[in-house]
Amino acid sequence: MALIVQKYGGTSVGNTERIKNVARRVAEFCKRGDQVVVVVSAMSGVTDGLIKLAREITDLPSEREMDMLLATGEQQTIALTAIALHAAGVPAVSLTGAQAGIVTDGVHTKAKIQNITPAAVHRMLDAGNVVIVAGFQGQTEAGQITTLGRGGSDLTAIALAAALKADLCQIYTDVDGVYTADPRIVPTAKKLSEIAYDEMLELAGSGAKVMQLRSVEFAKKFKVVFEVRSSLNENPGTIVKEETTSMEGVVVRGISLDKNQAKVTLFGVPDQPGRAARIFRALGDAAINVDMIVQNVSHAGGKPVTDLSFTADKSDLPKARRVIEELQKELGIREVQADENIGKLSIVGVGMRSHSGVAAKMFDVLAREGVNIEMISTSEIKISVVIDLAKGESAMRALHEAFIG
Ligand code: ADP
Ligand code: ASP
Ligand code: MG
Repeated sequence: MALIVQKYGGTSVGNTERIKNVARRVAEFCKRGDQVVVVVSAMSGVTDGLIKLAREITDLPSEREMDMLLATGEQQTIALTAIALHAAGVPAVSLTGAQAGIVTDGVHTKAKIQNITPAAVHRMLDAGNVVIVAGFQGQTEAGQITTLGRGGSDLTAIALAAALKADLCQIYTDVDGVYTADPRIVPTAKKLSEIAYDEMLELAGSGAKVMQLRSVEFAKKFKVVFEVRSSLNENPGTIVKEETTSMEGVVVRGISLDKNQAKVTLFGVPDQPGRAARIFRALGDAAINVDMIVQNVSHAGGKPVTDLSFTADKSDLPKARRVIEELQKELGIREVQADENIGKLSIVGVGMRSHSGVAAKMFDVLAREGVNIEMISTSEIKISVVIDLAKGESAMRALHEAFIG
């Protein structure tokens, strides 16, 4: 008998037929005598629909109320999944994140899991139930409902697998596994049989939304090996695990394109110590995750000034603008501009550590495609560039052809 945590994403529970399909799959595991914890997302489109409703009212809705609103999406699915399992003759009980013992900090819309007390889950499993847990949500010590950031059901599943010491953690989605690039953009992308945590981290952090970034961080930290696979067929998926030496033979494991970033440029920032610290501390205090930062010093009219650009999630742009505008006068920033028409294109692979000339080859391919590079950042195993959004997909295909074939 194994304890299995399975997560089904939005498309996999996208309508009642799909939910019945999930119930059928779960019932198979129960028949084998396994204990199953099922984590579900909101039905596809539901979270986006709720966000849209709030935005019809205001650009900057209260984050506490957004969590209250968005948590309802997953709550619908857990109940429907339990009802579908009952209809299939399988005892099942649904739990909200809070009922499952998921305790988070109080950073609404991006809360971090602080601890999980899975006593209720164990109790219900031991009583012979499939336990269905609402993904993406938790509760603070003080009882406030929180959510874990977009795609956060992945994190719920992986954190529960760690807390329950599950034998198996499976992430069921609408693709067969992790591919060398998003198969919707690159038709020649290949499914990977395995990928290292660090590679999955870099891809997830660069727009490959197949796994939520923080869920992969969590998996790496707590050594949760998991499999990404399809809920619509029986094909083996991709195992995400610790790096092995054989993985270093491949230079570029995957390519990703992040279309959800915006670039903010602050022109004419006085070049004095402490200015950047003030700006980025204020952004950090507002829970805005800044990704790339580039600074150029110039001497306009004799006084050294800098132009400072950074990228952040498009969804954080209204908040970032407000934070910067509050500082603009005090810090003497001449002008602030935001550009939402950017794409961040990244190539990732642990083999980059031991191979040279990778950046040169990437920039050559982009030059050949007539793509201008606006920003560059690198890590040991990743090279990212910011480019014009309109050229993102074709540039991604060109890089895939050059590095992976
Ligand atoms: P779920 O709703 O199951 O959480 P998501 O939509 O969040 O599913 O993630 C699955 C999607 O991720 C796929 O449909 C695919 O378009 C996209 N994707 C992006 N990059 C990759 C990749 N490298 N491999 C597989 N899928 C990817
Ligand atoms: N429903 C949430 C979202 O759409 C969480 C998830 O699907 O993982 O982001
Ligand atoms: Mg997802």
